[in-house]
Amino acid sequence: MEATNQNHNDRYRSDRPAPCVHPGCTTSTRERKPYCTEHVREHPYVTDLLDRLGSIERELAAVERRGKRAVDIDGVLATEVLRELSLHGDRTIRRLARDLALPTKVLDAYVRALAKAGRVTTGHTNRNREMVQLTESDREEAA
Ligand SMILES: [Zn+2]
Repeated sequence: MEATNQNHNDRYRSDRPAPCVHPGCTTSTRERKPYCTEHVREHPYVTDLLDRLGSIERELAAVERRGKRAVDIDGVLATEVLRELSLHGDRTIRRLARDLALPTKVLDAYVRALAKAGRVTTGHTNRNREMVQLTESDREEAA
């Protein structure tokens, strides 16, 4: 037990605590992390992620209000719809909405925008459900 503690101490001895880089913060961080837990949101990687999440949130709100015109065809969500289709094959709008945990109305707007951009085509099953499929060029890209 004592030996284990000794190893543990050796491992961390080289890792001297350093102050958080937030101006005026005196909290020490370990493992060469630049920010303490209180200021980790200032880390460029984290701010980048939060920015991207914020823009997804704004896009979703806009699509809910304005429909397909607000869709960013090269954005994260449109890409997710295409990826879902390339992974699982043709899907109904309802099924896509369920799998991506998005409102059907929102998913419908993405499908309309993607169809207009020529990335997907839609058709009806004999049970009159609307199916979405990748266009040929996207299929080849996915393969
Ligand atoms: Zn700090």
